[in-house]
Amino acid sequence: MHKKTKLIHGGIVGDPHTGAVNTPIYQVSTYKQEKVGVFKGYEYSRTGNPTRYALEELIKDLEGGKAGFAFGSGMAAITAVMMLFNSGDHVVLTDDVYGGTYRVMTKVLNRLGIESTFVDTSNLKELEAAIQDNTKAIYIETPTNPLLKITDIQQASLIAKRRNLLTIVDNTFSTPYWQTPISQGADIVLHSATKYIGGHSDVVAGLVVVNSDKLAEDMHFVQNSTGGVLGPQDSWLLMRGIKTLGLRMEATEKNTRRIVEFLESHPFVQKVYYPGLEDHPNHDIAKKQAGGFGGMVSFDVGSEERADQVLANVKYFTLAESLGAVESLISVPARMTHASIPAERRAELGITDGLLRISVGIEDVEDLIADLKNGLEA
Ligand SMILES: *Cc1c(COP(=O)(O)O)cnc(C)c1O
Repeated sequence: MHKKTKLIHGGIVGDPHTGAVNTPIYQVSTYKQEKVGVFKGYEYSRTGNPTRYALEELIKDLEGGKAGFAFGSGMAAITAVMMLFNSGDHVVLTDDVYGGTYRVMTKVLNRLGIESTFVDTSNLKELEAAIQDNTKAIYIETPTNPLLKITDIQQASLIAKRRNLLTIVDNTFSTPYWQTPISQGADIVLHSATKYIGGHSDVVAGLVVVNSDKLAEDMHFVQNSTGGVLGPQDSWLLMRGIKTLGLRMEATEKNTRRIVEFLESHPFVQKVYYPGLEDHPNHDIAKKQAGGFGGMVSFDVGSEERADQVLANVKYFTLAESLGAVESLISVPARMTHASIPAERRAELGITDGLLRISVGIEDVEDLIADLKNGLEA
């Protein structure tokens, strides 16, 4: 099945009980048992719900894994994955990882004895050097947020396999439409489905896909034990969003190429970060491992003042956290998504006060370019 067909026909198609062409919202918490322990597959909705299960089957198919799991947010999904580890275990993570991931590792999970080291995983030597005797996993975000760094998933997975470590990939920016990390050796793929997968800025959710029966069993045990599950209504919204994921990703890709060209040629823009640019340090890897470069672009306008000027004068780029929706968004990572990262560390990473990040939507690109031009030149 080709990808665009899988978005529509993957997972569980329709409702066998009624013939409804989509899985309905099973807004239900518990299920009748014929006798103690005799039931039709569902006993309690934390453990399993038919609408959530349909979504979990769909994301499993899209990522090409063994089982899928839906959570109440991306952070709930990431935390649940980390609950596979024990006190004293160590994880190596990408350095400019999502701010919330950095926070949960360094302020919450560290208190439970789960240790972490952050390195530039796009540099495989640095990645390998950070592995310790107690390391259990490599956690990669690629492309990263907001500097769009690229890690070679296949090479990182090979390093992990040699050392008997799990490879975990946050695939939020690329989505399974462009990139399927399991096909490149990853063991676990996760998403903030709040972003492209939902795609309409109307649901907060997280998804996990694992590539083995053992991980599926362990993940389900954690999901059911810790309980951060996604509700049926939100599960249904994600399935609805996924139907147009291909159309949205294609449209975003086209718009983004044009916008990157515009930004590159603008005198007030000092630097553009986009994996689709030939001078991006890992352009070739991005090209090899993903079908598209995505709709996230960061660019440096040199100062906080100029960044504020752009923000004050754009009208289609909405100033907001988040990304990956049909509407274009703009943000200042240093003061928004990455505010939870200490200032010294932000400076180390290159997340300057003049750095703006845009999430390109599917509006008419001429309007989007005119909007950015207004912002830059106001
Ligand atoms: C937003 C985001 C998260 C966290 O997801 P939530 O749904 O906001 O909890 C994790 N990783 C990346 C790359 C994100 O963009």
